[in-house]
Amino acid sequence: MKDIIDKISQTYNVLGSFQLTNTNAIELRNFLKDNYREAYKPDERLVVFLNDDNIEQMLLTLLDHLLGIDIGSYFVIVVSNNDNIEQSVISATSTGYDKQPLEIFKNNSLIKLDEVEHTNNDRLASLKLPNSTFCVLPWISLETSPVGGYKPCCNIFEEITDEDNNPLTVHNATIDECQNAFSMNKLREEFLQGKKPVACNRCWSEEDVGRNSKRINTLERMKDMGIRNIQWDNKPKNLMFVDLKLGNICNLKCRICGSYSSSTYATEELKQMPYEERKGSYPKIQLVNGAWPRNKELSFWDDLRNHTYDIRYLEFTGGEPFMIKEHFEFLQMLIDLHLAHQIEIHYNTNGTIYPKEAEHIWLHFKHVEIAFSIDAVGDKFEYQRTEANWEKVNENIIQFKKLREELNNISLQVCSTINIFNVMYLDELAEWIDQQDFDYVHWNMLHTALQHCITSLTPEAKDVAYSRLVNSQSNHKEAFQRVADFMMNAEGVSAEELIADISKMDLRRGHNLASAHPELAVAIGYNG
Ligand code: SF4
Ligand code: SF4
Repeated sequence: MKDIIDKISQTYNVLGSFQLTNTNAIELRNFLKDNYREAYKPDERLVVFLNDDNIEQMLLTLLDHLLGIDIGSYFVIVVSNNDNIEQSVISATSTGYDKQPLEIFKNNSLIKLDEVEHTNNDRLASLKLPNSTFCVLPWISLETSPVGGYKPCCNIFEEITDEDNNPLTVHNATIDECQNAFSMNKLREEFLQGKKPVACNRCWSEEDVGRNSKRINTLERMKDMGIRNIQWDNKPKNLMFVDLKLGNICNLKCRICGSYSSSTYATEELKQMPYEERKGSYPKIQLVNGAWPRNKELSFWDDLRNHTYDIRYLEFTGGEPFMIKEHFEFLQMLIDLHLAHQIEIHYNTNGTIYPKEAEHIWLHFKHVEIAFSIDAVGDKFEYQRTEANWEKVNENIIQFKKLREELNNISLQVCSTINIFNVMYLDELAEWIDQQDFDYVHWNMLHTALQHCITSLTPEAKDVAYSRLVNSQSNHKEAFQRVADFMMNAEGVSAEELIADISKMDLRRGHNLASAHPELAVAIGYNG
């Protein structure tokens, strides 16, 4: 070995060497971590000696660890005299992420191979999925709900349960217990058998009409991460995707929200109740359970620390995620473990808070995507997102844009949820959006609370909204056309229910729909 290192050292500065066998992958990871640098000098190299047996598998292991630790294969030389080493390196690289094959030291000389072109199909094939309707998320993902329930993903209908159908939550189960729970084993078994689980109907119905479902989007994301080598048996794998709805602690009480997702909404509901009915009531339970991220008695954050090594994607929503300081401590821990560079983060925020303390944390991560939940402008915004201040939100967005200029890993999105209150006013929202220079605009259709879904508008209101949507001259008119079609092709609650719901809330909050939304009030026959 020393002779070979001496020979390579005539060309490169060798930082370290490692003998890879079939049994020392963990030691390999430690070796690579010890030699990780944010930037290598052009002549610096790591050298990995390969045993002659099972060379393809060893190359895949090496490439996976390089990817996980974020070391470019350009800086690695593999040593092997195997007759097929060149072909093996090309074939391992072709199913990966990094186009640059490993440099080879063979028969006393260095061999540089040409770059390998990856096709989409190569990368998808590298995941080695057992069948065409397979979803990886029940193996590698976990979602927490605002009140602490667990699911394998946000799109599935059913929460994780034990064999007696009892829900497992952050209050009563560990992450391992969730991943190995009865319902998860059953779900994984169904996917392995090529079935389409009923609980996943949201994905199947999207795919039936030719749209990309969460299942497909996840595969797209995953294949571009270059992840391979996963054995899709019935056992759960290390967590890669974690979607944390960080409780229901929120400073707003948006019209389209409820006690399940907002502590301010729950507090308002509780105050409406006679004192003696409050204990054990729905909003009270949501308030208690929804504070779970700050509950020091729960071991959730410690538990999550033991599942961090393969995390590649973290999603934080709420409540309002920027109010949960505990998640910044978790992110700092990922930085301290040198894992941040391999992790992408996504936030959904209401935009009312600029978390200054996050600036020095976010810069360490691979990418940070911040999506602002903004559905209207000016006084309409303040009516719909009660307790929010439009001016302050705009000031914050300016701050976020400055941060995007300073760091090169931040992108900003707007996520506008289309509902009964804003559907007539999407043009003015679109105009504001187009002035903001967001990296991405997402028009999200509200489905879950039927009284707020645009299908619940009265026929007169639908006519007004339809005409505005189809005659829109905005840059988003194609999206608006789809909104118009959806609105006209389904039904919602009755006009009486709609008006009663709005009136009740207006009365409670001292608001009047007609002040900020006069056309909508007239169209639904609302008299305050
Ligand atoms: S198929 Fe869809 S709903 Fe089911 S686990 Fe996968 S992403 Fe979630
Ligand atoms: S900001 Fe989000 S969580 Fe808070 S009240 Fe509004 S919709 Fe609910």
